[in-house]
Amino acid sequence: MLAGFQRKGHVSLTPAFAEFVWAVGLLAWVIIRVPHQKRARKTQVASNAKTFKDRLALAAAAAGLCLVPIIFVATGFPAFADYTFQPWLGWLGLFVELAFLCLFYSSHQQLGKNWSVTLEIRNEHTLVTDGLYRYVRHPMYLSFWLWAIAQFCLLPNGIAGTAGLAGVAFLYFSRIHHEEAMMRHAFGASYDEYARHTGRIIPKPW
Ligand code: SAH
Repeated sequence: MLAGFQRKGHVSLTPAFAEFVWAVGLLAWVIIRVPHQKRARKTQVASNAKTFKDRLALAAAAAGLCLVPIIFVATGFPAFADYTFQPWLGWLGLFVELAFLCLFYSSHQQLGKNWSVTLEIRNEHTLVTDGLYRYVRHPMYLSFWLWAIAQFCLLPNGIAGTAGLAGVAFLYFSRIHHEEAMMRHAFGASYDEYARHTGRIIPKPW
């Protein structure tokens, strides 16, 4: 596989290696997520703000980040949307993929038992305001944006490369107001105070 880097004496990154990086990223995502998913099933829910639109947004994100690129990597479909691969974009994708995984892993660790795949408040829910949450209110969603950007850099196809960005945009913009309203309802003034000092996905320098 390392041979995929070498081209006439200088270091390059091939399209096949970029697809490999994308696939390893997906596998790492599954490995990080599964234990949290198992624990979440056992943690009691006090209230939820699940809606049909939120489920639809989750399905769109799953299709854009997983289904569409899996089909592309496995079969090459839809080949009509292929464009020329740029090795420098592949390198950028590799770097962004690593940043995504670090952020995803850390935000899961720091959110602990408070995590849900949908919008839920747990029985013993605590408001997490330290670690990454000290700087931004949505580090996990930031990691999803990075994942989608990495996918764009690694897969040179107008549909498979951009599907993740479309799915994450749908999930992020349709959910963010509902999630913050739910947190405000559960934690009142503490959440208002927390929100005053943090950005959503970009830290507030002031
Ligand atoms: N939006 C956060 C969390 C995503 S998981 C992020 O991007 O990192 C979604 C669940 O996390 C929601 O159902 C909510 O109950 C919970 N949650 C969101 N922010 C939280 C916080 N600061 N402390 C504790 N739980 C939080």
